[in-house]
Amino acid sequence: MNKSLRKAVIAGNWKMNKTPAEAKVLISELKEKVKDANCDVVICVPYVDLQVALEETKGTNIKVGAQNCHFEKSGAFTAEVSPIMLKEMGVEYVIIGHSERRTYFGETDVTVNKRTLAALSEGLIPIVCVGEYLEQREQGVTEELVAMQVKIALQGVTAEQMKNVIIAYEPVWAIGTGKTATSEQANEVNACIRNTLKKLYGESVANGVTIQYGGSMNAKNADELLSMEDVDGGLIGGASLKADDFAVIVNAASK
Ligand code: PEP
Repeated sequence: MNKSLRKAVIAGNWKMNKTPAEAKVLISELKEKVKDANCDVVICVPYVDLQVALEETKGTNIKVGAQNCHFEKSGAFTAEVSPIMLKEMGVEYVIIGHSERRTYFGETDVTVNKRTLAALSEGLIPIVCVGEYLEQREQGVTEELVAMQVKIALQGVTAEQMKNVIIAYEPVWAIGTGKTATSEQANEVNACIRNTLKKLYGESVANGVTIQYGGSMNAKNADELLSMEDVDGGLIGGASLKADDFAVIVNAASK
């Protein structure tokens, strides 16, 4: 079984939730509950919560991530934040190309690629999100579409850099909707992503890449989803805002 070659990573995507004071409370609840995790635990918080998250998680097993980064180091890009800024703060992970960025903020496969390269060049671990809309699933193009998103996102990324890349398969129809992909659907697309990586980088690199599933993963369905051969963790939205639920998911990934 190749699953044992990969470290499971459970990452919370807080989206636009929690003020710094609220973040402090949630992290203080969470750190006790996940302290014995046998997987990597990441919380991707709003920019304004990064400082408090870094302080509150110091000395714990919880790592901190941002939810986006720009591809330039600095310059006239009002309201943007560069990877170098995140790195200097102590941030380790960054979500790239979340479907909400693609849908509401004009993110494209090309900008996802630029942001991925920029994050890697500053030593951040990008969590690259890909996934299809419901209409695309119904048209039967999910696998081709996701493979294309992966190929474009990774243009110029070396085999060595792939050790520091996480891919999150997130069917758009399952995000925040309560509709989860079945464990078979999630595994099927994750396996297709791994196949794409095999073609690009060879078998041994592909077998080492953590491929998460995201989309309404919760305390009830996590066990089944995370038991699948090609599901190496989860990107968790809603359920990451409740310490108890997030901890159940972390513990399911620790088995
Ligand atoms: C997400 O934001 O990446 C996500 C998967 O959200 P939810 O778990 O709420 O569907």
